[in-house]
Amino acid sequence: MQIVIIGSGVAGVSFVEKYRTLSADDEITLVTRERDGYYSRPLLSRGFTKTDIEQSIILKPFDKLRENNINVLCGVDVTAINRTDKSIAISGSQKTLQYDKLIIAQGSAAFIPPPYRPFEKLFFCLNSLVDLKALRQFRQDFLNRNQRPNWGIVGGGLIGCEVASDLAVAGDNVTLFHATDRLMERQLVAEDSALLLKVLQDSGVKVLLNQAVQEFIKEDGKVCVRTEVKAEFDGLIVACGFKPRTELAQLAGLEIGRGIKVNQQMQTSDESIYALGDIAELPNGKLYAFILPIRNQALWLAEFMAGQKQDDWTPPAFTTKAKVHGFEAVHPYNV
Ligand SMILES: Cc1cc2nc3c(=O)[nH]c(=O)nc-3n(C[C@H](O)[C@H](O)[C@H](O)COP(=O)(O)OP(=O)(O)OC[C@H]3O[C@@H](n4cnc5c(N)ncnc54)[C@H](O)[C@@H]3O)c2cc1C
Repeated sequence: MQIVIIGSGVAGVSFVEKYRTLSADDEITLVTRERDGYYSRPLLSRGFTKTDIEQSIILKPFDKLRENNINVLCGVDVTAINRTDKSIAISGSQKTLQYDKLIIAQGSAAFIPPPYRPFEKLFFCLNSLVDLKALRQFRQDFLNRNQRPNWGIVGGGLIGCEVASDLAVAGDNVTLFHATDRLMERQLVAEDSALLLKVLQDSGVKVLLNQAVQEFIKEDGKVCVRTEVKAEFDGLIVACGFKPRTELAQLAGLEIGRGIKVNQQMQTSDESIYALGDIAELPNGKLYAFILPIRNQALWLAEFMAGQKQDDWTPPAFTTKAKVHGFEAVHPYNV
């Protein structure tokens, strides 16, 4: 059997490694746009205080997978899924790759609110190692001149708070804009949001709540955020959540909701195609966009496809934790 996986995040890599231990004969091919290896996405938001991050974030070079008889095509994009002849198209290649079973583990991109899209060239996001490298390079140019960049961060959710904290602890000037009256209101109770606010303020972050950011402007080499007033920064980061990369699946005619719709066995509306990780929407309408349940899904699917499981995938109990320096929530997170 020819098994093809799109994506080398925790979903894709956990699946291929487990499946290889269960089946010596099937051909496994992992196709990914990444070039640096399998890396820890959660560590991205510690990318400014950890000086060796570009090396230490790599959990596994792709050659380690190849040593286990897993084909890896890296630095390429899957550009189409052809369900009629069961193949995928790959950027830069005239050839297509056939599959018997396809696993879509493409993860998610940063969500950019529609009003911000015309200004995309004016801000950064932090969703991948490529994004982190770009941010670090931008910051390094200031450090080389013995200066500290002045950052504006839009979005006081989990990632916005983590990045604000890490940049402030690394010594930069940070202003955090949040649309509602308290930070991380989706995950934390009000008491913990207040605690988080104090921790961020104590580390030097200027937090502005109830801020409707309307537009971004470039003026005299600075980027400006316009709320009720105008504020000027060296660098802007938009952290407004994530969006599953459903475009390929949608073009291929798979059923889509917020993510790719799957049943309790991670199977899409096409019986030869499965979806895992940030991109998979379960029948209860949920996306399980955290490392622990995703790894659990991937290991479960490997066992299911190897004939070792017949029952449905059920989410394990899990919690999360904001990686904000010095912050511990008193109450459980809402996940
Ligand atoms: C900054 C940050 C901090 C986080 N912190 C935490 C945390 O502390 N705890 C936690 O549990 N979760 C955290 N998360 C969420 C967690 O990292 C994700 O839920 C998880 O990594 C998703 O894994 P995935 O394998 O589904 O997708 P991804 O890790 O996004 O991997 C998808 C892969 O598919 C590839 N790909 C996409 N499209 C194509 C294509 N067309 N062709 C080829 N390749 C393609 C991508 O390059 C990527 O390698 C964090 C996320 C971010 C961004």
